[in-house]
Amino acid sequence: MTAPLLRAAAIKSKARELGFDLCGIAPAAAHPELNFFREWLAGGYGGTMTYLHRSARKRVDIQKVVPGARTVIVTATVYNTERPYSTECDDPMRAQIARYAWGDDYHDVIGGRLEALLAWMRETSPEPFDARAYVDTGPVQERVFAQHAGVGWIGKNTCVISPALGSWIFLGEIICTLPLEVDAPSVDQCGTCTLCLDACPTHAILAPGVLDATRCISYLTIEKRGQLTPAEREAIGSHIYGCDVCQEVCPWNAAAPRSEDPAWQPRKAWDGVDLLTLSRRSDDELAAALEGSAMRRAEVRGLRRNVAAALESA
Ligand code: SF4
Ligand code: SF4
Repeated sequence: MTAPLLRAAAIKSKARELGFDLCGIAPAAAHPELNFFREWLAGGYGGTMTYLHRSARKRVDIQKVVPGARTVIVTATVYNTERPYSTECDDPMRAQIARYAWGDDYHDVIGGRLEALLAWMRETSPEPFDARAYVDTGPVQERVFAQHAGVGWIGKNTCVISPALGSWIFLGEIICTLPLEVDAPSVDQCGTCTLCLDACPTHAILAPGVLDATRCISYLTIEKRGQLTPAEREAIGSHIYGCDVCQEVCPWNAAAPRSEDPAWQPRKAWDGVDLLTLSRRSDDELAAALEGSAMRRAEVRGLRRNVAAALESA
């Protein structure tokens, strides 16, 4: 007797067991939304993120990432914690850090869980298959596949919004050659709302779903290397790593669920910290706090640059 085929329901059940809050499956198809990426790049909105240009061919065609791919298993993991939103804070000396970066590095944590899911799939599937797992690092437009997997729609602020979970979620995906049963795509529920466009401090959301990354505080504080211009220094305000404003104002996050997962709880070094305290920390202290944190991308030098800029405008 042959073993039963690996089913979508079994994968989703295993995903829940491994700590994922949501799991959906999309066809590994040439979805029309994938093509917008080239237009966006051509508009110069990617700034100095040259890796996006280098990987563009793969980003618009998932078959170039995993040849023969049939399905994309997309997971979502809530990282929201009980801390107040930055928009609720009126202290200009409080260092604002994007919520996703407060705890452990999601690449490591979610990556480990995805690899565990993939290992289980390989053990369980009677047929061999090819697959790759990514957490934000692969040449994949994961938000498009998240929408087609029914995880959530891409909001006007460009974040994936789950009707049940909001947008404080880490996405992860396994692209595989298995012909799994797919989910219905999510439906756009932004409606006539424009709160995120109106609230963006730097007017980086040019139109619904069109983000000029070069104006976005996340880009300026994380991706941009070297010195910030005076206008950029002023623009970042008290944000020293990323920005959450366009998600904080979103009605779908008004009652967003919180995670009890120790991985996402704020590290002591960043929890409610003020700019002066941060500026007085030694390089060794900052380096120790960045160890295993998603904020290590900025490195000590980048963090110091951002803190100095924030102090200027405080
Ligand atoms: S992250 Fe901040 S700066 Fe970037 S688009 Fe959202 S509100 Fe604007
Ligand atoms: S704030 Fe409004 S327009 Fe923006 S993503 Fe949320 S629902 Fe959509």
